[in-house]
Amino acid sequence: MLDRYVVIGNPIAHSKSPEIHACFAAQTRQAMSYGRMLAPLDGFAATVRDFIAQGGKGANVTVPFKLEAFALVTELTERARAAGAVNTLKFDGSAILGDNTDGVGLVTDITYNAEVAIKGRRVLLLGAGGAARGAILPLLQEQPDELVVANRTPAKAEVLVQQFAGTGNLRSCDFASLRGTFDIVINATSSSLADEVPPVAPGVFSVKALAYDMMYGKGPTAFMRFAAQHGAIVRDGLGMLVEQAAEAFHVWRDVRPATAPVFEKLRSQL
Ligand code: NDP
Repeated sequence: MLDRYVVIGNPIAHSKSPEIHACFAAQTRQAMSYGRMLAPLDGFAATVRDFIAQGGKGANVTVPFKLEAFALVTELTERARAAGAVNTLKFDGSAILGDNTDGVGLVTDITYNAEVAIKGRRVLLLGAGGAARGAILPLLQEQPDELVVANRTPAKAEVLVQQFAGTGNLRSCDFASLRGTFDIVINATSSSLADEVPPVAPGVFSVKALAYDMMYGKGPTAFMRFAAQHGAIVRDGLGMLVEQAAEAFHVWRDVRPATAPVFEKLRSQL
């Protein structure tokens, strides 16, 4: 019998998670299956409970259910509590563990794959939505010199800063009052979906800054094109996607898959 895992979302047909986890399972010889599960917009909790009743071992959760997953679980990891959202569920008897691996996926992609240290660097995080919120604790745990959160709606960035007060050198800002240069600029806004650049001045990029867009696609995003024009080294969020999946795989199976071959395979298929 194969242990069963799924990714639950609505829509779900586009998800690359089944392909990623199939590669991880083959590589590490884990006896597991991983499929897509479409949940009705008003039926997330029922879908999870049905899957548990069928013997499911765990699930990833994607748009729009990460907040509902947070509310459903019986236990939370520290990083999921900080993120206020859950993207990984692990079922154990009547217990449902909720984790969030997005932020650690981002940090691993920056520090390990891109080989850019966060410790002691000035980091600018653009956006204050779910992805930004999930990134803050893992970024602060790397001990940057400073982490600035800038958002179109500044009050939302300030709420995040208040939430993490005392965890590290963190402040909020609106785009217009951004001053100084940053070694790492992370675009966690959804502006790239509209092929737009968040309104930051070109001067935010320090010499050889890393400009990281959480979004990914066939070509560079608008933010990456803008950053490259102003001297930054650019990277998209495909590595984050693969690394968050590897972290979820580790939560479920206690095995760490190699991510580089899976990343290369996905990149070649975009
Ligand atoms: P949310 O909807 O929660 O937040 C969107 C954020 O983008 C808000 O801060 C919003 O500002 C801002 N925003 C939207 N449009 C613009 C614009 N035109 N200019 C400036 N700011 C804008 O989205 P998520 O946080 O869930 O996702 C953000 C991005 O991260 C998406 O592109 C998503 O694809 C990507 N992502 C990638 C992952 C990966 O594994 N690679 C994982 C998760 C997300 P305001 O508050 O003012 O509305």
